[in-house]
Amino acid sequence: MAGVLLLPGDGIGPEVTEEARALLVRVAPDVELEEGLVGGCAIDAEGTPLSDATLDRARACGLVLLGAVGGPRWDALPVEKRPEKGLLRIRKELGLFACLRPAKVIDALADASPLRREAVVGVDLIVVRELTGGIYYGEPRGRSDRDGTRRALNTMVYDEHDIARIARVAFETAAGRRRRVTNIHKANVLEVCKLWNEVVEEVARDYPDVELEHQLVDSAAMVLLRDAPRFDVLLCPNLFGDILSDEAAMITGSLGMLASASIGEPGRGLFEPVHGSAPDIAGQDKANPLAAILSVALLLEHGLGRPEEAARVRRAVERVLDEGYRTLDLARGPHTRVLGTREMGKRVREALS
Ligand code: NAD
Repeated sequence: MAGVLLLPGDGIGPEVTEEARALLVRVAPDVELEEGLVGGCAIDAEGTPLSDATLDRARACGLVLLGAVGGPRWDALPVEKRPEKGLLRIRKELGLFACLRPAKVIDALADASPLRREAVVGVDLIVVRELTGGIYYGEPRGRSDRDGTRRALNTMVYDEHDIARIARVAFETAAGRRRRVTNIHKANVLEVCKLWNEVVEEVARDYPDVELEHQLVDSAAMVLLRDAPRFDVLLCPNLFGDILSDEAAMITGSLGMLASASIGEPGRGLFEPVHGSAPDIAGQDKANPLAAILSVALLLEHGLGRPEEAARVRRAVERVLDEGYRTLDLARGPHTRVLGTREMGKRVREALS
């Protein structure tokens, strides 16, 4: 029996996770759920943002659904003891090497985008970012002042195994979508990207039904603003994925709608909203639970291998939005009906049937 560890965390984390939990119970009643502490609440109760005992439970379950961590109460702590260290520890210990960030513009919310409606209607893409290698981790690194001149360096390094592993995630993801991978690179100046492209092409041979195109990262940043609907899956090294996934997210204009998945070997993954703990609205029944609910869709699809149930969740969310219901963060215009966190969660559950 599959198990999922719920880590609601801090601020609005518990409020949105509660709606995600209730939905998951409805869609997949056979999945066993456990609950634990992460972030600031874990610091208060256990003296550390992620205890060894909670980590052991995360390892045993393999799949984690997280709310959000952090808040002003823990801001003064030294870096090593801060709430987000709990998150980083889970990612590392579960070996989560791929980050999936979907950016979909739901028709009913197209006006929330900072771009013109015509440029964003139909956007439905997913950034597949390599998460544990590249320039963020490469050696040598550091500061090496010399002869009175300040100097620093970082190293972008990938081996063929790292590249093949993330490329497979991108092709598998595309195979279940519109079957197109856009490989993001800078091979005109970086040797590491030449190897990256070479290996991606080798992996592509195992997916003859998926179209592969290569695109320079700088031009991809422009096309995202001009013609984002053309993208399906963007495969990115760590640095490029970090930047482009935020740009893609901004196109949707709705922080409260964005979900993410960090995945590793089959059956291992961390699923969470992109937003933080929003201390300014915590405990007021104002938080948008849809990013947490859409994180459940990612969990169903990429963690539990249940794409049909995932699609059911997404359809329910779209139905509720089509009917004009909004949380406060999405409310625009006279025809919207504003709901609190709990009521929005309830409407989505009702829309499942
Ligand atoms: P934030 O995402 O928490 O909030 C930014 C703004 O968006 C706020 O005005 C907030 O009210 C609003 N918002 C966020 N999520 C919302 C939702 N679901 N519904 C409605 N409105 C929402 O970012 P921040 O204010 O920069 O950070 C607050 C805390 O969260 C900090 O301690 C930060 O370190 C932490 N944080 C945690 C994560 C995480 O757990 N993954 C991510 C980002 C920030």
